[in-house]
Amino acid sequence: MDHSVIFAWLKDNPIMGPEDFLRIPGYEQTINFSKFSGRRLEIMLTDYAFDKANETQCGISGCKQKHQRGFIVGTDDGKVTNIGKDCGKTHLGLDFSRARKEFNYRRKAESNRTTITTVIADIAAQQSRIDRIQAFAKHLNACSFSFRRLMPDTYRKVCEMAKRDNPVITRPKALTGRDAELYFEMTKTRPRDYPGGVPVVDEPVDTLSGHRFFRDMIGASVTHRILKPRDELISLTTDEIDNLSGRRLSMLSKSAQEILANLSATEELANYGLAFFSADNLEKLKLLGASSESITAFRKEVPEANLC
Ligand SMILES: [Zn+2]
Repeated sequence: MDHSVIFAWLKDNPIMGPEDFLRIPGYEQTINFSKFSGRRLEIMLTDYAFDKANETQCGISGCKQKHQRGFIVGTDDGKVTNIGKDCGKTHLGLDFSRARKEFNYRRKAESNRTTITTVIADIAAQQSRIDRIQAFAKHLNACSFSFRRLMPDTYRKVCEMAKRDNPVITRPKALTGRDAELYFEMTKTRPRDYPGGVPVVDEPVDTLSGHRFFRDMIGASVTHRILKPRDELISLTTDEIDNLSGRRLSMLSKSAQEILANLSATEELANYGLAFFSADNLEKLKLLGASSESITAFRKEVPEANLC
């Protein structure tokens, strides 16, 4: 019997107990592996583990060892039987070591493929979101560039507000009369503590939207935290996937989770950006010293985003 046929069969018919052995195509309860037989162990097809009540017997003739854990094996002349986890070492020596090594490798490669396939499918399912964030990033980068060029001082002020995470626009207000008295009382100070005897405080006048857009670089975020790791994942060849170390495999699954988290974070950043560059919010920049002309020039230079 061709081993690949039995492989396929075992995939669809997992071995749950010793009674399942008899259903395996070509299975024989005992096989002669003696020198005179000239027969060799060629392949481990799958492994099994039963509880004590389901102990089974080794198929190497002359062994018959009772055991709970073992392998379904194939010989070089196409026979199939089951052998104990360790007794193959005793009876089949080097053949057993080689076959087990190949078995472990195949097992690992299979599990690598399953993990990576799942991870790549998870990311592929987000393709439309990735396309969308790329378009947003392109638009917002253009906005940011023009804003910086046309209103450099305002740009600096906004970056400072982003750094402090404080969206409140203030203007200085000199306190006089009753206001000043209350202020002296509250701060336990006196007029002589202030130049000209007049305390000056920052009075809130408005609140910026989307100031947090300036806490990060959206273009770099899309390139380095989404596209690059995504491309690295999908460019893996079958051969590379089979040979991934456990460490590298878990790094790649983690990286895939991070791509999805970065996608959400970058979408949030884009929302801040859209809020910041909205018409209402641009008007507020006048309170930070931007001229009407520069705001008009900005609107001309960056056409309204036609996204979504
Ligand atoms: Zn045995």
